Order: sequence, then C-alpha cells, then structure tokens
Amino acid sequence: MPGLKWKKNFHKSLGAWFDDEFRDLPWRQTRDPYKIWISEIMLQQTRVKTVVPYYLRFIRALPTLNILAETSLERVLKLWEGMGYYARARNIHKSARHICSTFDGVFPKEIEEIQSLAGIGPYTAAAIHSIAFGGDHAVVDGNVKRVLARLFCVEEEINSKEGIAKIERLAQQCLAKGNAGTYNQAIMELGAVICRPRLPQCERCPVNDQCMAFKDKRQTQFPKKAAKKPKPHYTVAIGLIFKNHKILITRRPCKGMLGGLWEFPGGKLDPSLPLSKALAQKIEQHIAVKVRVGKKITVIQHGYTHFDITMHAFRCTLISGTPRCRECIQWRWIDLREMDKYAFPRADKKVIEQAALAG
Ligand code: SF4
Repeated sequence: MPGLKWKKNFHKSLGAWFDDEFRDLPWRQTRDPYKIWISEIMLQQTRVKTVVPYYLRFIRALPTLNILAETSLERVLKLWEGMGYYARARNIHKSARHICSTFDGVFPKEIEEIQSLAGIGPYTAAAIHSIAFGGDHAVVDGNVKRVLARLFCVEEEINSKEGIAKIERLAQQCLAKGNAGTYNQAIMELGAVICRPRLPQCERCPVNDQCMAFKDKRQTQFPKKAAKKPKPHYTVAIGLIFKNHKILITRRPCKGMLGGLWEFPGGKLDPSLPLSKALAQKIEQHIAVKVRVGKKITVIQHGYTHFDITMHAFRCTLISGTPRCRECIQWRWIDLREMDKYAFPRADKKVIEQAALAG
C-alpha cells in the first residue's frame, strides 16, 4: 500500500508534469457534463487522435443534450460513422432521451444516476463524475492499469479477478482526494504519453523514482497478461444489386454489432459452397429476392476487435422477387448520389470507395 510520503511525492511530481505537458484536447476546455460524457464515451474504445475530429463535429452538430435528444438515431449514427462500436452511439441517443424524460434535461449529478445510464459502467461513471463534478473516484482504464501495474510490480494477470481487484484497490489508494478530476486525467495521460505499452519512456517519466518496475528494470514485464487467442477469420460476400440506376441497401437490426447501420445485402458465407452460389443463397435469406451473381467488383480485408474478414463484393442482377426484410429492419433502392446520407460500416465504406460508387 502506498504510504503518505510516497503519495505526496507522487501527486506533486505527476501534477507538475501534467501542468506543463498536458495535451490541450477539446474536452479538457470544459466542465460541461454533457460534453465530458460524449468525450468519455467516444474514448471508450477509440484512440484520442481519432476521437478529436469526431468529437468536434458531434458537438458542433449537437451542442446540447436537448438537441441530441431531439435528433434522430439515424443522424447520430451518421455522425458516428467510421468510429466503430455503434452501440455507443445508440446508447448516447437513448440516454439523452432518458435524461430529458427523467431528469428534466439536466445531466444527473449523482454517480449512481450516471451509472444507471445506458452504456455507462463504473469506469466511465467515475471519469464523468470526477471531471465534471469533482467526485473522489479513481478511474481505471487500460492506461491506468498499466501505470499502476508497473509502479507496484503487480504480479497478478491484469484482467484476472485478482488482478482487477488489486488494481482497483491501488487506484483508490493513490487517488488525490479533492482533486480527483485532474489527477485522473494526469495518470491516464501518463499512461498514454509516457508509460506506453511497448516502449515506456522511463527516463522522461516524472514518477520514475517511485516506480518499482523501473528500479528493478522490469518495466516491460508488466502488466502481466494471459496469452491472446488467435482471431478467427471469416469470408463474407455482399451483392451490389442495381435496378434502374439505383442500388439496394438494407438496414441492420438496431441491437447487436453495427446495429442500425445500412449495408449491402449479403453476409458470412457457407464455406462449403462456391462464393457466387453462397452469396445468392445469402441474399435470398437476407432480403427475399433471387439474384444472378455477376462480376466481382472488389475484395477488401477488414479487422474487427474479435475477428477479421475478407469481403468480396459482386455486381448482382435482380431476377425475381420484391425485397422483404428477413434479416434486416428496412430496405431502400437509393440513387448513388444519395449514398453519403446513410451511415455504413467501415467495411462497406471501403467497398464504396474502392468501387467508386458514391456519386
Ligand atoms: Fe511507467 Fe517507466 Fe514511469 Fe515506471 S518509470 S511509471 S514503467 S514510464
């Protein structure tokens, strides 16, 4: 357990470094809980560099919680397009409406209320409450876990039950009470900028004389992690079905992966069949039409967090049937010039770009 003297020196060194070196990110210029909430949700699974333009665009388009609540989910998804993990966007939209109906449109101040919002777990609630309202809660994200694991040579695997409990205990013990918002941002920043996963910059680190791993020259041995399982790979095919200069798009169910986004009909294929036959079958299963699968337009590779895909895109001709949703919630024939109005998954976007589909 860190002693009082250790903590005092740690807070002093970390605080002085953060004052001098902190990156002037747009969400650090505000205490508005709405804006801090949006930034924290965006930062949950996305890197800072990617988040900045999305955050600025989102706040420009939807500057207040009430405006967000009044806008359509489709617009929110379009603003989120390309950032991935679309459940975050759906949860933000749902929560904004919930805050308007339950809390008179005012972002809740109590941590339990914040944690009751869709998509907010203990980490995000602690971050929002400490930064926006000064609550004394330690934030434990991936950066903080790594820093603490190295500072204290935590031997338990970082994502094991014991490892999580130990890190949470250490995080709460190290917290600068009364200044938790700034402290949390400083320790997260230290992990992001100095105590990096592969090459920690220990010589430049403001707390190196308090770091057990640095003293023992074992910094790259922490955090301890279980061996990663190899990612599965799937073959996917989609059909670009044209009719009278229009193309058919379908909308995914709102729940689940990429929920609520538009896409081209198709999906994961039966590997025992030839691609074109499997795609024709998949399209019929998806949208109830029979197609002739024509020329292959492009092939793209795409990686998701838990699996990778190779996606084959074929030009298809409608043979019979009228689209009817079987595995989707909406369908439309759209003009190629309208493509930009719809939010597509990144893999479909790559196809649109490579096939130069957008008008
Ligand atoms: Fe991380 Fe090195 Fe600083 Fe220790 S001294 S906290 S390992 S950067």
